[in-house]
Amino acid sequence: MRFDAELLLLAMAPVFVGCIGWEAWHLSRTRPGSGIYSWRDTLCNAALALMHQAADKVAWLFVIPVYAFFYAHVRLFTLEAGWASFVLLFVAQDLLYYVFHRASHRVRWLWAAHVVHHSSERLNLSTAFRQSLMYPVAGMWAFWIPLAVLGFPPSQIVAIVLVNLAFQFFVHTQAVGKLGWLEYVFNTPSIHRVHHARNDRYIDRNYAGVLVIWDRLFGSYVAEDPAEPPVYGIVEPLHTYNPLKATFHEWASMFADAARMKGWRNRLKALFAPPAWAAQWHAARDVAQEQANAATGISSGAAGSGTKAGTVRNA
Ligand SMILES: [Zn+2]
Ligand SMILES: [Zn+2]
Repeated sequence: MRFDAELLLLAMAPVFVGCIGWEAWHLSRTRPGSGIYSWRDTLCNAALALMHQAADKVAWLFVIPVYAFFYAHVRLFTLEAGWASFVLLFVAQDLLYYVFHRASHRVRWLWAAHVVHHSSERLNLSTAFRQSLMYPVAGMWAFWIPLAVLGFPPSQIVAIVLVNLAFQFFVHTQAVGKLGWLEYVFNTPSIHRVHHARNDRYIDRNYAGVLVIWDRLFGSYVAEDPAEPPVYGIVEPLHTYNPLKATFHEWASMFADAARMKGWRNRLKALFAPPAWAAQWHAARDVAQEQANAATGISSGAAGSGTKAGTVRNA
């Protein structure tokens, strides 16, 4: 089954590229000058996709034996292959994806990897390729261990993770409006546009992979409001098309914060608290610095970073 899924994704590659080409052409005719596509942004996304794929290939070599261990020694059920077990696998993995994705926005260690997907200020089908090679280091793979415990063999786990990811390609577009009743069941372009937005009312909402029922059940659903178009990107913009900077900037910032904070509690919070905690710490530090400068009559050199005060990082 693993082989089939990888083959399916390989077969889908021309479909993905064709859809990107169609979307760019379509938007150039229907919304000329909108700037939804830019060559530099799309090339950066493509580079990030290749880096992510390479890292994933290596990571599976290490991770599949971990799943195999849990499957062999800890599994609760022995499931017979068939439609019922496939549906269970699909639904369970999609729920775990929701948990992973929500945690990726609430735990800075995971956000350090996931921020890559959000750091472009454009949203189009090529944004789906914008992924981090650091996901295996962050520990994304650990979220699928419960599937092995439930009784799914490693090859099926890998396959369903890839299928879920492939589906999500299609929700990264501004060329499709709301989709009627599908909005109640599935993650759709409208629902995922909200997820990529940094507007106050949209931030930290709509974590769905394939099914949006989890957002509706657990209170994280917000509908796209035509009166408030999404503003894409993160609260502290990255301003680079360099895929290496996009990949490592938050890791560097996180470890720098942990190194300069006093006390283990604060250091652990720098790594594992919500990203907004560090943003508030930065803001408080900048205010203290400005006050110290004012007291000594030095003109503020922290004015640039002081603009962070009062903002909350895309958490
Ligand atoms: Zn996200
Ligand atoms: Zn996305």
